[in-house]
Formats: sequence, C-alpha cells, structure tokens
Amino acid sequence: MSKTTFEDLGIQTWLTKQCDAIGVKFPTDIQKNCIPEILKGKDCIGAAKTGSGKTLAFALPIIQKLCEDPYGIYALVLTPTRELAYQISDQFAVVGKMMNLKYVTVVGGMDMILQAQKLSDKPHIVVATPGRLADHIQSCMTFNFNNLKFLVLDEADRLLSGPFDEQIKTIFSVLPKERQHLFFSATITDTLSTIMNFTKKDTLIYEAPSET
Ligand code: ADP
Ligand code: MG
Repeated sequence: MSKTTFEDLGIQTWLTKQCDAIGVKFPTDIQKNCIPEILKGKDCIGAAKTGSGKTLAFALPIIQKLCEDPYGIYALVLTPTRELAYQISDQFAVVGKMMNLKYVTVVGGMDMILQAQKLSDKPHIVVATPGRLADHIQSCMTFNFNNLKFLVLDEADRLLSGPFDEQIKTIFSVLPKERQHLFFSATITDTLSTIMNFTKKDTLIYEAPSET
C-alpha cells in the first residue's frame, strides 16, 4: 500500500515542495487526520504528544487558505511561551517563504513600539503569547482583527488552565465571532469541556492513541 502524501490531504504542490525541502515528506498521523478537515472549514481539536507535528497540522492549511484572501491579519496563533512562539513563527517562515508570508511574533521582552509597527503593517499571521498581545490591545491598538479567519490555541490545555484567563478574555473581546478554531495540545482531557464552549458542534476531535 502506498503511503499517504500531503497532496492526498489536499495540500497544493507549491506547499508540499517547501515541506520536502525541509525533510517533511509524509504527513504524521495528526496531520493526516486534521488537515483535510481544517481545509473543509471545520473547527478542530487535536491532541498528540510533543514532536508529533502539530504546528504544520495547522500551519499548512492556514497558509493554503490565506492565499485565497491575503488581506489583513488572517490567523492568530496563541501559545504559552516565547520559546514556542518563536518555534511556531519559524515553521510559518519556512513553509510560507514562496508566498512572502508576513508574520509577526508578539512576545514579552521585545520592544513594544517595534512590535506595534509590525502589527499595524498588516501581517498575515500573528504568533503571540497572551500577555504581550493583551498589552498591545490595551494600549493604543493600531491594528485590527476584522479579517481574522483562524484562531489557533497551541498548547490549548495550558492556555485554558487558568493563569491566562484575563489576557485571553481581553484578546477574545476584539476578535470577530465568526472564525475557525484550531486547538492543539499534548493532552486535552482536563480542559476539553472549556474548549468545547468555544468550538462549533461538528468539531473534529482527534486524539492520538496512547502508546502502551
Ligand atoms: P509538536 O507541536 O507536536 O510538539 P512540532 O510541530 O513542533 O511538534 O514538530 C516537531 C518537529 O517535527 C519539527 O521540527 C517539525 O519540522 C517536524 N515535523 C513536522 N511534521 C513532520 C513530518 N510530517 N515529517 C517529518 N518531520 C516533521
Ligand atoms: Mg507544538
């Protein structure tokens, strides 16, 4: 039996070529399960252990879709730490190189004014930690999320476990109500009910089988 390819999942060749160039040749299980559903427009909750390729499971369909309508901030990715925000940004940069993808990484410890300038320069993707993005929203907000199509919560269980509640509330208050939710995590057990409050009824829930 031949192996499933990214093309089989609906990913266009110009993008699969970018993947190939970084040694990403065949989709992982979470990518196989989530990418076709995300392309169809479904909300998605995906859980699989660290290193299983969750970032490309959302980055590839987002980049492909944004090429249809590349105006304004198209996707917001929230993640709990600076380190993760940089890692996610790097993967967007690599696979989005061909289409001159514009992204901004919004994390603490960096110059607020420079970040604000980049945010107002209509990036396609914003990758942020909740604290710093909430700061930008509460100071003079020179950007908007009017064209936002995707909200990604990376490490969703950590983001929704309490400490980020106020910041997330601030952020959600400026997002359009109509948006596609993509929530990824290593585990989803504890926060699943909270997550389900946000997502639509026909949400795809994929949980990788545990290894025994
Ligand atoms: P997770 O978020 O699940 O912990 P990442 O998305 O950070 O995992 O991916 C971990 C590493 O695996 C990254 O270096 C990424 O480039 C690589 N990777 C992702 N998808 C694939 C694939 N289909 N084949 C090979 N490597 C992949
Ligand atoms: Mg990850």
